[in-house]
Amino acid sequence: MDWIRIASDPYWFVLVVSFLGIAVWETCRARRELAAPLGTRWGKHSLIWISGGILTRGLYGVGPVLVAASVEGSRLGLLNQPWMPFAARCILALLLLDLTKYAVHRAWHSFPILWRVHQVHHSDPEYDLSTTFRFHPIESLVTQGVYLSVVVVLAPPPVAVLAAELSRAFLGFFAHANASLPKWVEKIARVVFITPDLHRIHHSVEEWEQVKNLGENFSCWDRLFHTYVPEPAAGQAAMITGLRGFQNPGSLGLTFMLTQPFLPERPERRPERREEQPSPSVPLATAD
Ligand SMILES: [Zn+2]
Repeated sequence: MDWIRIASDPYWFVLVVSFLGIAVWETCRARRELAAPLGTRWGKHSLIWISGGILTRGLYGVGPVLVAASVEGSRLGLLNQPWMPFAARCILALLLLDLTKYAVHRAWHSFPILWRVHQVHHSDPEYDLSTTFRFHPIESLVTQGVYLSVVVVLAPPPVAVLAAELSRAFLGFFAHANASLPKWVEKIARVVFITPDLHRIHHSVEEWEQVKNLGENFSCWDRLFHTYVPEPAAGQAAMITGLRGFQNPGSLGLTFMLTQPFLPERPERRPERREEQPSPSVPLATAD
């Protein structure tokens, strides 16, 4: 089977259609007004996404679907067992791959050295679908490396990995949308999925909220591991997103995003200051 074409064409189609669809949704029903011009946000965030993509693809050469296709015949894979029904292998694969994403995301928040890198995603002074692109290339590289390793260990059906990739292409933009679902839809959707209102809480300036709602696609992991928070303490309308001290236009600079992990630690991140009121924004970064 030509997995190169099967994996690539639908992925790019879903990615582009999802981006355009969520962009229209945000434009028509924006949750909050953005201070920075959309062109600047989308342009700068696309650049760091492309940097990560080039590095990741250059180093690994293949994506998760092709890795799954290459280990399809392996009898050592945890899910590649003849006694296991195909449907069960697909469902387990979707769940375990999403659990991997939850665990990796939790690790980025749990270890100071990893947080230094992941904070680039959180230092976005605002929040919209382009935040989906805002990951430091080191994070893209490490996350993809772990993910590909898990695919090798599980040896899941390639079609299940493709389904996971397609859902990620849509749900990534969806979770970062500067928009909210109608209340009744939100109530149903959040039972299964991470919605924009849930994931926005994860991007709060409040540090205790930053370690909540860590799931990528499914909300069950946050419920299971007690990291689920239904509403922000300040309320959806009043909550502030980003990192304290980085809410200035300079935080959108490509040079700033690439170098942030290597900058001296900001005092705002020290645990003993957690309960203090937000400090005024300090212009640290320089836009490029
Ligand atoms: Zn995070």
